[in-house]
Amino acid sequence: MRPTRVTVDLAAITANVAAFVDHVDGALVCPAVKADGYGHGDVPVAEAAIAGGAQRLCVATVDEGIRLREAGISVPILLLSEPTAGMVRAVVDWDLMPTVYSLSFVEALASVTTSPKSVHLKVDTGMHRVGAALDQAVAIALTVTRQPTLVLEGVWSHLAVADTDPDYTALQRDRFGGVLDELASVGIEPPLRHLANTAGIFLGREYWYDMVRPGIGVYGLPPHPESVGPLDLAPALRVESAVSHVQRLSAGERPSYGRRRPLKVDSTVVTVPIGYADGYWRGLIDADVLIGGQRYPLAGTVTMDQIMVDVGDADVRLGDEVVLLGRQGGEEITATELAGRLGTINYEIVCRLGPRLRRVYET
Ligand SMILES: *Cc1c(COP(=O)(O)O)cnc(C)c1O
Repeated sequence: MRPTRVTVDLAAITANVAAFVDHVDGALVCPAVKADGYGHGDVPVAEAAIAGGAQRLCVATVDEGIRLREAGISVPILLLSEPTAGMVRAVVDWDLMPTVYSLSFVEALASVTTSPKSVHLKVDTGMHRVGAALDQAVAIALTVTRQPTLVLEGVWSHLAVADTDPDYTALQRDRFGGVLDELASVGIEPPLRHLANTAGIFLGREYWYDMVRPGIGVYGLPPHPESVGPLDLAPALRVESAVSHVQRLSAGERPSYGRRRPLKVDSTVVTVPIGYADGYWRGLIDADVLIGGQRYPLAGTVTMDQIMVDVGDADVRLGDEVVLLGRQGGEEITATELAGRLGTINYEIVCRLGPRLRRVYET
C-alpha cells in the first residue's frame, strides 16, 4: 500500500468534544462534521464526537446528512443551510433537521410532512451569507408555527468575526437577543437558541445560549492563528509518508518542475510520494517536512504526486517516515503553519486533504 496517509486520533476528537461539553455548562454541543469532518472523515469523527458527549451534529448538505444516517448515526442532524425546495422529501425521509429562512421552503416542507417535524430558523444578524433578514424573522417563525406538522425547535444565527472583532460580535449578539425578544412577544420561545462557533464559544457564556456549534476546535485547531482559547484541545490529524527515492546531487542542480531552487551545496535530495493531488498544495514550495524529528525544506516545486526534500548531509534512507503535517519527535508542523505559508486558514488545509489519501483511524 502507498505509505502516504492521514492518521486521525479519534481519542483526541472524543477528548476535545468532552472538553467543550464540560466547558459550556449544560448547553448542548452540536459539533460541525461538514466537509467530511473537516477532512478527518465524517463518520468516524461523528462517532468519536458522540462518545465525547455530543448530543447532536451539524452538516452543510443533505448528502452529508444522509451519509451519517446510512452509517447508523441516530442523533439529530442539523442542516446549516436551507436545502433547495426540491430536496424536502429527502430531508424528511432521512430524518434530517432543516434550517429554514424562506417562506417557499417552509411551505414546501409542510406539504410533504405528515408527522411533527422540527426545524430551526436561521436569522442573519450580520454575517450576510444566508438567513432570514432581521425584519422577516418573526413572519417566518409565525408561518412555521402555523403549520400543523412543523415544530420550531430552534432559532439561531452565525458570527462573522468572533475571532477578530469583539464589537461587531457583540452587535450580532444584541441583534440576536432582539429577535428572541420579538419572538417571545408573539408567544414563540424555541427551546434551542444557538449562536456560537468555536471562536464564539471562547468568548464566554453570553454566547452559549442552549447549544453551541464547535467545528475547528473539535479537531484541536485554533480558529485564528493567535487564538489562545480557554480549552486544552489536541490536534487529531497527521499527514505522513515515507521516503521513496534517495539521490545525491551536486551544488547548482535545480530539482523539480521549473527548476526554481538551485542547491547551494552538494546535498542529498529525497523524494516523497505526496503532491498537490493529495491536497499538499503546490504553493507550499517554502514548507518544511519532518524526517527523523528534524525539519527539512522542500528542494523545489510540489508536483502532482511527489515532492523532493533537501536533507543536506543527513543520513536519510529509503522508507524513512516523513511527516508533512503533525508531530514527529520534538518537532511539529501545524495546519496553521502551512496555512500561513499559503495565505489561507487552517480550516482550508485540513478540508482539502484529498480522497486519494488513505485515512487510518487510531483510537
Ligand atoms: C462551520 C460552521 C460552524 C463551526 O465553525 P468553527 O469556526 O469551525 O467552529 C458553526 N456554525 C456554522 C453555521 C458553520 O457553518
